[in-house]
Amino acid sequence: MDKASTDDTLRLILDTVDRFVDQHIPAEELRRRDRDHAPPFDLMPALGAAGLLGLPFPEAYGGQTLPWSIVTRVEERLGYRASMLGTLYDTTVCFGGMSLMTYGTEAQRADLLPKMIRGEAMFALALTEPGAGSDAGGIQTRAKKVDGGWRVTGRKTWSSNAKQATYMVTPCRTDPDATAHRGITMMLIPPDAEGVAMTELQKIGNAGLTSWDIGLDEVFVPDADVMGEVNRGFYNLMSTLHYARAGLAASAVGQAQRAVDIAIEHAQTRVQFGQPLGGFQAVRHRLADMQMRVDQARLMTYHLADLISAGEPCRREAAQAKVIATETLLDVANDGMQILASAGYAAESDMQRIWRDARLYTFGEGTNEIQRDIIAKELGL
Ligand SMILES: Cc1cc2nc3c(=O)[nH]c(=O)nc-3n(C[C@H](O)[C@H](O)[C@H](O)COP(=O)(O)OP(=O)(O)OC[C@H]3O[C@@H](n4cnc5c(N)ncnc54)[C@H](O)[C@@H]3O)c2cc1C
Repeated sequence: MDKASTDDTLRLILDTVDRFVDQHIPAEELRRRDRDHAPPFDLMPALGAAGLLGLPFPEAYGGQTLPWSIVTRVEERLGYRASMLGTLYDTTVCFGGMSLMTYGTEAQRADLLPKMIRGEAMFALALTEPGAGSDAGGIQTRAKKVDGGWRVTGRKTWSSNAKQATYMVTPCRTDPDATAHRGITMMLIPPDAEGVAMTELQKIGNAGLTSWDIGLDEVFVPDADVMGEVNRGFYNLMSTLHYARAGLAASAVGQAQRAVDIAIEHAQTRVQFGQPLGGFQAVRHRLADMQMRVDQARLMTYHLADLISAGEPCRREAAQAKVIATETLLDVANDGMQILASAGYAAESDMQRIWRDARLYTFGEGTNEIQRDIIAKELGL
């Protein structure tokens, strides 16, 4: 696709996103859903009908084969205007869809991708365990080979949207003698399978997703629901994480820009000592720093998207964009709270929601300490 047609396509798609948000989840509805803990699962079929869930996937499955740079811009716009929809978009398209594309079997792709693109199928990642957070290679959930499939026993925790998902993409230890990252296999487990017990976890932000602790007791997984090669699951998972990191970074950039814009508007309208807050150098400079940081994070995120679109290696750039975008979001949301002061602390303020949600991103989807380890490793250290 040449640059002019990419730009035209992008404009049309971003207009579609704006129309979708205006119609289904405008600012007041976003606030209501946050207050009522009502994630927008019900909007997924409409998002599919608007053509927004198939952007990077081949036409054969109902997609549009568009470059990743466009997916990134959609994530950013959703982050800016309806962040909880952006989070769901990330787990569905960037994680679930791209995992199927990259290491799912053709039968799994043919069955699940068209449903996902229509907004009728969602995916959750059930990786984290009580004893394995950052140390993802330390998972203990065990799958034993039986006739026609596997029996899975163990416990997963903090899996987002697991109960609402069509399948939980579940890494299991299939070779008990292999250590760390070896001997792990990805399995597709429906949340209503016999032997699955779910307990909902309560949290302080990100009301747009649900969180689950999951008991797995001798759950039967047919061979057809093994995703990717047996014992290579960890490497498969790692080979697709840059998509989800790119999605998360773009959503964080959108949310960060929203925080800056809310703070600018407040600085222009709130008068103290006879002048708008934006006339005080301490506030002006703080806002200038906030915008510079968001622009820096945006450029790194767009650079990552270009590498993904070009099929270039991007392990370091994905970790870098994730760190910079999420730390920028956390910092500008904190600065935004300072500029709004009591107005930001009020329950109806959008700034407090951004600030609460932001706290997750520096440790969710791989902590920023682990991202720094990845960057250092890529630097040969
Ligand atoms: C709202 C929410 C949604 C989530 N969604 C999902 C999901 O959908 N699927 C899923 O599988 N998981 C999910 N998680 C889990 C999330 O990925 C983990 O919280 C994260 O991986 C960190 O694990 P932990 O919380 O056990 O922290 P720990 O691993 O215990 O880490 C605690 C601290 O120690 C630091 N640390 C640990 N090891 C090192 C090291 N080697 N060097 C330096 N510092 C280190 C960490 O960086 C962190 O700061 C979610 C969590 C939350 C809160």
